[in-house]
Amino acid sequence: MADKMKVAVIGAGLAGSEAAYFLAQRGVSVFLFESKTLALGPAQSVKTACELVCTNSLKSAAQASAHGMLKLEMEKFGSVVLKAAKITCVPAGSALAVDRDKFSQTVDQMLNEHELITRIEKDVKNPIELFESYGVNSVIVASGPLTNAGLSSWLQSEICGEDFFFYDAIAPVVDADTLDYSKLYFKDRHVDPKESENVADYLNIPLDKTQYDEFVKNLTFAEKVKPKNFEKEIFFESCLPIDLMAERGPETPRFGPMRPIGLEKEDGHRPHGVVQLRRENLLGDAFNLVGFQTRLTYPEQLRVLRKLPGLEEAKFLKLGSVHRNSFLNAKKVLNWDLSCKKFPSIHFAGQMIGVEGYSESAAMGLYAAMSVYCKLTKEEFPQFPVESAMGALVNYIMTSPKPVPSNINFGLLPPVTLTREQRKDKKRKIVKKLLAADRGKDVFDQFFNKHFDSVFN
Ligand SMILES: Cc1cc2nc3c(=O)[nH]c(=O)nc-3n(C[C@H](O)[C@H](O)[C@H](O)COP(=O)(O)OP(=O)(O)OC[C@H]3O[C@@H](n4cnc5c(N)ncnc54)[C@H](O)[C@@H]3O)c2cc1C
Repeated sequence: MADKMKVAVIGAGLAGSEAAYFLAQRGVSVFLFESKTLALGPAQSVKTACELVCTNSLKSAAQASAHGMLKLEMEKFGSVVLKAAKITCVPAGSALAVDRDKFSQTVDQMLNEHELITRIEKDVKNPIELFESYGVNSVIVASGPLTNAGLSSWLQSEICGEDFFFYDAIAPVVDADTLDYSKLYFKDRHVDPKESENVADYLNIPLDKTQYDEFVKNLTFAEKVKPKNFEKEIFFESCLPIDLMAERGPETPRFGPMRPIGLEKEDGHRPHGVVQLRRENLLGDAFNLVGFQTRLTYPEQLRVLRKLPGLEEAKFLKLGSVHRNSFLNAKKVLNWDLSCKKFPSIHFAGQMIGVEGYSESAAMGLYAAMSVYCKLTKEEFPQFPVESAMGALVNYIMTSPKPVPSNINFGLLPPVTLTREQRKDKKRKIVKKLLAADRGKDVFDQFFNKHFDSVFN
C-alpha cells in the first residue's frame, strides 16, 4: 500500500533527511523541500543536506549514556544520519564526531540517489498548499530552529498563536554534589517548612545588601555574547536575561527572579536578595538557577556565578544562553504521534517540536516518519515507553509544565531504584546511569520487537 503514498517533507536538515529516507526506504514517495539551495540562511554555509551548523559532534556514543541509548534506538530504525556519521567519523573518544562537510555530502548523496525521493528547491510558506499542488497524503514540517519567515508566520497565524517561540533562554545548571549546602537553605516561597509535609523544591542562596550589590555590579559589567546577525535582540519581558535586568537598574533583579519575599530563613530573617535553585531532573543530581538565562560569555558566567555563596566550587553541567530558536509548544498544538491537532495530516519533527540537539532532532524526524507511515498503512502507532530515549523525549515535550527545549539526558527518564548496597556506593551516580541505560535498552528492544520488527524488517 505504501507505494501509492506520497509525503512532503519541509526541510532537508537533520530531522527532514531522516524522515525522508525512512519513508522512502519503506516504499513511500517523498517530495523533500529545501530553501537553502536557493539562498543560504544566516547560520548556513553549505548547500548540501543535513548541515551541522556548529560543532561537528553528535555527542556520546557510549552505551551507558543517554545519547548512546538514543543512537541505539535510531540505528534500529535505519537512521541515515548514523549511517553517514559512521562513514565520515573522526576520532573523538567516546563521542561520535564527523567530518562536517563529508557528512553533509554523504547524506545529500544518499537522498539524491534514492529513487523515491524528489528534491525540490522551494521556500515553503504554506504547507496546506502542498496537498493539492503535489497530491501528497501527509506533510512533515521539519524546518528547524531558524525556520524561514514566511513559514514562521503561517505557523503562528494558523496553528500556534502565542504558542510559537522565537527565542530559547537557557539557565545554567549546576551539579548538586558540588554545592556548599552550609551556605544555602531549602524553602519554597511563602511555605512555612514547619507546616508542610513536603520536602521543599527550592534551594536558596541568601545575599545581604553588600553581596547583592556586588553581584549585580558583576552582572552589569561582565562581558556578553554579541548577537549574531540573524539574532535581533528582541526578548520576551517574562523571560529577560538576568544581566539585562541588572543593566536596567540595580533593583530590577530584586523585583524579578532574585526577589526575597516569602523566603524568610528559619530565624525569620529575610535576605536582601535570593538566587533560587530548582531540581533539574528526576534523579535530583542537578539544579538550575531559576530565571538566570543570560548573555554572559561562558568564562564570565563561571567567574561571576562562582562568587555566589555556596557556588565557589560549583561544577556547571550547562551554562546559560539566549539564542534564536523557533519552536512550538508541543503539548498545546500536537498529539503524541506528533501530528498537529488542528491539521492531523501535518506532522512536526526536529528541533521545532521542542527538543534540542542534532541527534535529538534527527531522532524526532524518525519518530514523525514512523507515525506518518503507520497512519498511511493503517497500522496502530504505539506510544513509546518512557524508559526509552525516544519515548522520554516525546514524553518530555508533551508533559513539561513549560515549553523549554531539552536535549536527551537521564533526568528525562523515570528514576531507577537502587539497592541499599548501591545507595552506599561512592560511584552511585555512575551505577544509576548504567542501570537506566540497561533498563532502557531492554524495554526498547521488547517494544521494538513487539510493534515494529515485523512491520519494518
Ligand atoms: C546557530 C545554531 C547552532 C547550533 N549548534 C548546535 C550544536 O553545536 N550541537 C547540537 O547538537 N545542536 C545545535 N543546534 C541545535 C540543533 O541541533 C540544530 O539546529 C539541528 O540542525 C536541528 O535540526 P532540524 O532538522 O530540526 O533543523 P535544521 O537542521 O536546521 O533543518 C531545517 C532545514 O529546513 C530548511 N528550511 C527552513 N525553513 C524552510 C522553508 N520554509 N521551506 C523549505 N525549507 C526550509 C532549512 O534551510 C534547513 O535546512 C544549533 C542550532 C542553531 C540555530
